[in-house]
Amino acid sequence: MNYIVFDLEWNQSPLGKKDKNQRIPFEIIEIGAVKLNSDRQQTDSFHRIIRPQVYTWIHDSIHEVTHIDYKDLLDGVTFPQAAREFLEWCGTDYVFCTWGNQDLTELQRNLKYYDMLCLLPGPVYYYDAQKLFSWFHEHKKQRRGLEYAVDTLGLKKDRCFHRAEEDAEYTAEVFRRLDEEEIRPYFSVDVYQNPRKKREEIHISYPFYDKYVSREFRDREKIMKDREVTSTRCPACRLPAKRKLRWFMNNNSRVYESISLCPEHGYVKGKIRIRKTDGGSYYAVKTIKNVDEKKAEEIRNKRDSLRKKRK
Ligand SMILES: [Zn+2]
Repeated sequence: MNYIVFDLEWNQSPLGKKDKNQRIPFEIIEIGAVKLNSDRQQTDSFHRIIRPQVYTWIHDSIHEVTHIDYKDLLDGVTFPQAAREFLEWCGTDYVFCTWGNQDLTELQRNLKYYDMLCLLPGPVYYYDAQKLFSWFHEHKKQRRGLEYAVDTLGLKKDRCFHRAEEDAEYTAEVFRRLDEEEIRPYFSVDVYQNPRKKREEIHISYPFYDKYVSREFRDREKIMKDREVTSTRCPACRLPAKRKLRWFMNNNSRVYESISLCPEHGYVKGKIRIRKTDGGSYYAVKTIKNVDEKKAEEIRNKRDSLRKKRK
Protein backbone atom coordinates (compact mmCIF):
# COMPACT_ATOMS: atom_id res chain seq x y z
CA MET A 1 0.00 0.00 0.00
CA ASN A 2 1.17 3.53 -0.82
CA TYR A 3 0.70 6.74 1.07
CA ILE A 4 -0.38 9.70 -1.02
CA VAL A 5 0.71 12.83 0.81
CA PHE A 6 -0.87 15.82 -0.86
CA ASP A 7 -1.42 19.52 -0.44
CA LEU A 8 -3.66 22.00 -2.21
CA GLU A 9 -3.60 25.72 -2.70
CA TRP A 10 -6.91 27.41 -3.32
CA ASN A 11 -8.30 30.80 -4.15
CA GLN A 12 -11.48 32.48 -2.97
CA SER A 13 -13.74 35.23 -4.22
CA PRO A 14 -11.48 38.27 -4.69
CA LEU A 15 -14.41 40.58 -3.98
CA GLY A 16 -15.47 38.86 -0.78
CA LYS A 17 -18.91 37.57 0.03
CA LYS A 18 -20.94 39.30 -2.62
CA ASP A 19 -19.33 37.43 -5.48
CA LYS A 20 -18.83 34.18 -3.65
CA ASN A 21 -20.12 31.08 -5.39
CA GLN A 22 -21.67 29.03 -2.57
CA ARG A 23 -21.02 25.77 -4.36
CA ILE A 24 -17.30 26.43 -4.56
CA PRO A 25 -16.16 28.94 -1.93
CA PHE A 26 -12.55 27.78 -2.39
CA GLU A 27 -11.34 27.08 -5.90
CA ILE A 28 -8.31 24.81 -6.09
CA ILE A 29 -5.43 26.32 -8.08
CA GLU A 30 -2.59 23.92 -7.31
CA ILE A 31 -2.15 20.25 -6.41
CA GLY A 32 1.13 18.90 -5.08
CA ALA A 33 1.68 15.33 -3.93
CA VAL A 34 4.30 12.73 -3.14
CA LYS A 35 3.85 8.98 -3.19
CA LEU A 36 5.44 6.98 -0.39
CA ASN A 37 5.71 3.20 -0.38
CA SER A 38 4.75 1.14 2.67
CA ASP A 39 8.19 1.89 4.18
CA ARG A 40 7.36 5.57 3.67
CA GLN A 41 10.12 6.05 1.11
CA GLN A 42 9.27 8.50 -1.66
CA THR A 43 8.76 6.77 -5.00
CA ASP A 44 7.08 9.47 -7.09
CA SER A 45 5.71 13.01 -7.10
CA PHE A 46 2.87 14.91 -8.76
CA HIS A 47 2.32 18.59 -9.45
CA ARG A 48 -0.26 20.56 -11.40
CA ILE A 49 -1.02 24.25 -11.67
CA ILE A 50 -4.71 24.85 -12.28
CA ARG A 51 -6.21 27.59 -14.40
CA PRO A 52 -9.22 28.86 -12.44
CA GLN A 53 -12.69 28.94 -13.99
CA VAL A 54 -14.71 30.56 -11.23
CA TYR A 55 -12.67 33.33 -9.60
CA THR A 56 -10.59 35.12 -12.17
CA TRP A 57 -8.44 37.14 -9.83
CA ILE A 58 -6.39 36.04 -6.82
CA HIS A 59 -7.72 37.23 -3.48
CA ASP A 60 -5.22 39.52 -1.71
CA SER A 61 -4.86 37.32 1.35
CA ILE A 62 -4.19 34.26 -0.83
CA HIS A 63 -1.62 36.18 -2.85
CA GLU A 64 0.05 37.31 0.34
CA VAL A 65 0.46 33.75 1.61
CA THR A 66 1.20 31.84 -1.59
CA HIS A 67 2.69 34.63 -3.76
CA ILE A 68 0.70 33.12 -6.61
CA ASP A 69 -0.27 35.63 -9.23
CA TYR A 70 -3.14 35.26 -11.67
CA LYS A 71 -0.77 35.16 -14.61
CA ASP A 72 1.13 32.25 -13.00
CA LEU A 73 -2.00 30.17 -13.54
CA LEU A 74 -2.65 30.98 -17.17
CA ASP A 75 -0.55 28.05 -18.39
CA GLY A 76 -2.23 25.68 -15.97
CA VAL A 77 -4.64 22.89 -16.83
CA THR A 78 -8.33 22.87 -15.89
CA PHE A 79 -9.40 21.38 -12.58
CA PRO A 80 -11.20 18.41 -14.20
CA GLN A 81 -8.03 17.45 -16.06
CA ALA A 82 -5.75 17.93 -13.04
CA ALA A 83 -8.09 16.01 -10.74
CA ARG A 84 -8.48 13.14 -13.16
CA GLU A 85 -4.72 12.89 -13.64
CA PHE A 86 -4.13 13.14 -9.91
CA LEU A 87 -6.55 10.37 -8.99
CA GLU A 88 -5.19 8.16 -11.76
CA TRP A 89 -1.67 8.78 -10.51
CA CYS A 90 -2.77 7.77 -6.98
CA GLY A 91 -3.44 4.23 -8.23
CA THR A 92 -5.75 1.81 -6.48
CA ASP A 93 -4.01 0.79 -3.27
CA TYR A 94 -3.31 3.86 -1.21
CA VAL A 95 -4.27 5.94 1.78
CA PHE A 96 -4.17 9.74 1.80
CA CYS A 97 -2.15 11.82 4.22
CA THR A 98 -2.57 15.59 4.60
CA TRP A 99 -1.62 18.41 6.93
CA GLY A 100 -4.91 19.17 8.68
CA ASN A 101 -8.45 18.22 7.76
CA GLN A 102 -9.35 20.82 5.15
CA ASP A 103 -7.69 19.61 1.97
CA LEU A 104 -9.78 16.47 1.54
CA THR A 105 -13.01 18.38 2.05
CA GLU A 106 -12.10 21.04 -0.50
CA LEU A 107 -10.90 18.43 -2.99
CA GLN A 108 -14.28 16.72 -2.77
CA ARG A 109 -16.21 19.99 -2.93
CA ASN A 110 -14.33 20.98 -6.09
CA LEU A 111 -14.93 17.51 -7.57
CA LYS A 112 -18.62 17.87 -6.80
CA TYR A 113 -18.76 21.27 -8.46
CA TYR A 114 -17.54 19.64 -11.68
CA ASP A 115 -19.80 16.59 -11.23
CA MET A 116 -16.81 14.34 -10.70
CA LEU A 117 -17.31 13.21 -7.14
CA CYS A 118 -17.87 9.63 -8.31
CA LEU A 119 -14.09 9.48 -8.93
CA LEU A 120 -13.50 9.67 -5.18
CA PRO A 121 -16.22 7.77 -3.33
CA GLY A 122 -16.54 8.61 0.36
CA PRO A 123 -16.22 8.48 3.25
CA VAL A 124 -12.50 9.04 2.69
CA TYR A 125 -10.07 7.56 5.20
CA TYR A 126 -6.75 9.34 5.66
CA TYR A 127 -3.99 10.24 8.08
CA ASP A 128 -4.01 13.79 9.38
CA ALA A 129 -0.30 14.42 9.96
CA GLN A 130 -1.05 17.70 11.74
CA LYS A 131 -3.23 15.99 14.35
CA LEU A 132 -0.83 13.07 14.75
CA PHE A 133 2.11 15.43 15.17
CA SER A 134 0.34 17.24 18.04
CA TRP A 135 -0.72 14.01 19.69
CA PHE A 136 2.53 12.15 19.54
CA HIS A 137 5.12 14.91 19.54
CA GLU A 138 3.56 17.43 21.84
CA HIS A 139 1.00 15.47 23.86
CA LYS A 140 -1.37 18.30 23.15
CA LYS A 141 -4.44 18.79 21.14
CA GLN A 142 -3.43 22.15 19.76
CA ARG A 143 -2.91 22.18 16.02
CA ARG A 144 0.39 23.61 14.80
CA GLY A 145 1.55 25.06 11.53
CA LEU A 146 3.63 22.95 9.18
CA GLU A 147 6.67 25.20 9.58
CA TYR A 148 6.46 24.81 13.36
CA ALA A 149 6.59 21.02 12.97
CA VAL A 150 9.50 21.23 10.53
CA ASP A 151 11.41 23.44 13.00
CA THR A 152 10.58 21.26 16.00
CA LEU A 153 11.84 18.15 14.25
CA GLY A 154 14.93 19.98 13.01
CA LEU A 155 14.22 19.19 9.36
CA LYS A 156 15.96 20.85 6.46
CA LYS A 157 14.18 24.04 5.43
CA ASP A 158 15.53 24.81 1.99
CA ARG A 159 12.26 25.38 0.16
CA CYS A 160 9.40 27.82 0.58
CA PHE A 161 6.18 27.14 2.49
CA HIS A 162 2.57 27.55 1.35
CA ARG A 163 3.02 26.09 -2.07
CA ALA A 164 1.46 22.72 -2.83
CA GLU A 165 4.54 20.83 -3.98
CA GLU A 166 6.76 22.04 -1.15
CA ASP A 167 4.12 21.61 1.55
CA ALA A 168 3.39 18.06 0.38
CA GLU A 169 7.10 17.28 0.65
CA TYR A 170 7.40 18.86 4.10
CA THR A 171 4.28 17.01 5.25
CA ALA A 172 5.77 13.74 4.02
CA GLU A 173 8.97 14.51 5.93
CA VAL A 174 7.03 15.10 9.15
CA PHE A 175 4.79 12.08 8.56
CA ARG A 176 7.83 9.85 8.06
CA ARG A 177 9.12 10.80 11.50
CA LEU A 178 5.97 9.68 13.29
CA ASP A 179 6.18 6.19 14.75
CA GLU A 180 4.35 3.93 12.31
CA GLU A 181 3.12 1.44 14.89
CA GLU A 182 1.95 4.21 17.17
CA ILE A 183 -0.04 6.14 14.59
CA ARG A 184 -1.43 3.25 12.55
CA PRO A 185 -4.78 2.91 14.38
CA TYR A 186 -5.43 6.65 14.31
CA PHE A 187 -6.68 7.19 10.78
CA SER A 188 -9.14 10.03 10.28
CA VAL A 189 -12.32 9.88 8.27
CA ASP A 190 -13.53 12.71 6.09
CA VAL A 191 -17.32 12.72 5.96
CA TYR A 192 -17.91 15.41 3.36
CA GLN A 193 -19.78 12.51 1.72
CA ASN A 194 -21.64 11.80 4.93
CA PRO A 195 -23.74 8.68 5.60
CA ARG A 196 -27.26 9.09 4.25
CA LYS A 197 -28.91 5.92 5.47
CA LYS A 198 -28.78 3.82 8.60
CA ARG A 199 -26.70 1.10 6.98
CA GLU A 200 -24.07 3.66 5.90
CA GLU A 201 -23.51 4.95 9.43
CA ILE A 202 -19.89 4.81 10.57
CA HIS A 203 -18.68 3.12 13.75
CA ILE A 204 -14.95 3.28 14.45
CA SER A 205 -13.20 1.88 17.46
CA TYR A 206 -9.90 3.58 18.29
CA PRO A 207 -7.64 2.34 21.10
CA PHE A 208 -8.87 5.01 23.52
CA TYR A 209 -12.24 6.09 22.20
CA ASP A 210 -15.10 5.23 19.90
CA LYS A 211 -16.43 7.35 17.08
CA TYR A 212 -19.80 7.26 15.38
CA VAL A 213 -21.13 9.25 12.42
CA SER A 214 -24.90 9.18 12.04
CA ARG A 215 -27.07 9.17 8.95
CA GLU A 216 -28.64 12.42 7.74
CA PHE A 217 -31.58 14.12 9.41
CA ARG A 218 -33.64 16.78 7.63
CA ASP A 219 -34.89 18.01 10.96
CA ARG A 220 -32.25 19.07 13.48
CA GLU A 221 -34.57 18.53 16.45
CA LYS A 222 -34.84 14.82 15.71
CA ILE A 223 -31.13 14.11 16.10
CA MET A 224 -30.97 14.30 19.89
CA LYS A 225 -34.06 12.11 20.13
CA ASP A 226 -32.50 9.27 18.16
CA ARG A 227 -31.58 6.24 20.27
CA GLU A 228 -28.44 5.32 18.37
CA VAL A 229 -27.15 8.90 18.35
CA THR A 230 -27.62 9.33 22.10
CA SER A 231 -26.57 5.83 23.19
CA THR A 232 -23.46 5.60 25.36
CA ARG A 233 -21.80 2.21 25.23
CA CYS A 234 -18.59 1.85 27.21
CA PRO A 235 -15.65 1.79 24.74
CA ALA A 236 -13.86 -0.83 26.85
CA CYS A 237 -16.61 -3.47 27.04
CA ARG A 238 -19.35 -2.28 24.64
CA LEU A 239 -22.04 -2.62 27.29
CA PRO A 240 -24.48 0.25 27.79
CA ALA A 241 -23.20 2.64 30.44
CA LYS A 242 -25.80 4.13 32.75
CA ARG A 243 -26.44 7.83 32.21
CA LYS A 244 -25.30 9.95 35.15
CA LEU A 245 -25.50 13.33 33.49
CA ARG A 246 -28.02 13.78 30.69
CA TRP A 247 -26.95 15.19 27.34
CA PHE A 248 -26.67 18.95 27.71
CA MET A 249 -25.84 21.66 25.24
CA ASN A 250 -22.33 22.96 25.64
CA ASN A 251 -21.60 26.69 25.30
CA ASN A 252 -21.80 26.10 21.59
CA SER A 253 -25.23 25.20 20.28
CA ARG A 254 -23.81 22.46 18.11
CA VAL A 255 -22.05 20.48 20.85
CA TYR A 256 -23.63 18.23 23.47
CA GLU A 257 -21.95 16.37 26.30
CA SER A 258 -22.96 13.66 28.76
CA ILE A 259 -21.50 11.44 31.47
CA SER A 260 -22.37 7.78 32.03
CA LEU A 261 -21.04 5.07 34.29
CA CYS A 262 -19.90 1.56 33.39
CA PRO A 263 -19.89 -0.65 36.51
CA GLU A 264 -16.70 -2.28 35.28
CA HIS A 265 -14.74 0.58 33.67
CA GLY A 266 -15.89 3.73 35.41
CA TYR A 267 -16.99 7.00 33.83
CA VAL A 268 -17.74 7.37 30.15
CA LYS A 269 -17.82 10.77 28.52
CA GLY A 270 -19.98 11.36 25.47
CA LYS A 271 -19.66 14.23 23.04
CA ILE A 272 -21.93 14.91 20.09
CA ARG A 273 -21.22 17.47 17.42
CA ILE A 274 -24.06 18.43 15.09
CA ARG A 275 -22.86 19.15 11.58
CA LYS A 276 -24.62 20.57 8.57
CA THR A 277 -24.25 19.24 5.04
CA ASP A 278 -23.91 21.41 1.92
CA GLY A 279 -27.47 20.32 1.13
CA GLY A 280 -28.84 21.73 4.40
CA SER A 281 -29.36 18.43 6.27
CA TYR A 282 -27.80 17.55 9.61
CA TYR A 283 -25.82 14.63 11.00
CA ALA A 284 -24.14 13.83 14.29
CA VAL A 285 -20.54 12.94 15.06
CA LYS A 286 -20.26 11.27 18.45
CA THR A 287 -17.16 10.35 20.41
CA ILE A 288 -17.26 8.17 23.49
CA LYS A 289 -14.33 7.92 25.86
CA ASN A 290 -13.50 6.41 29.25
CA VAL A 291 -12.56 9.18 31.70
CA ASP A 292 -11.61 9.44 35.36
CA GLU A 293 -13.73 10.83 38.16
CA LYS A 294 -12.01 14.20 38.07
CA LYS A 295 -12.95 14.70 34.42
CA ALA A 296 -16.52 13.55 35.09
CA GLU A 297 -16.78 16.08 37.91
CA GLU A 298 -15.39 18.81 35.66
CA ILE A 299 -18.14 18.18 33.12
CA ARG A 300 -20.81 18.20 35.81
CA ASN A 301 -19.52 21.56 37.05
CA LYS A 302 -19.57 22.92 33.54
CA ARG A 303 -23.19 21.84 33.12
CA ASP A 304 -24.13 23.45 36.45
CA SER A 305 -22.48 26.76 35.66
CA LEU A 306 -24.12 26.84 32.23
CA ARG A 307 -27.50 26.28 33.88
CA LYS A 308 -26.90 29.17 36.26
CA LYS A 309 -25.85 31.45 33.44
CA ARG A 310 -28.99 30.66 31.47
CA LYS A 311 -31.20 31.46 34.42
ZN1 LIG B 1 -17.18 -1.07 30.40
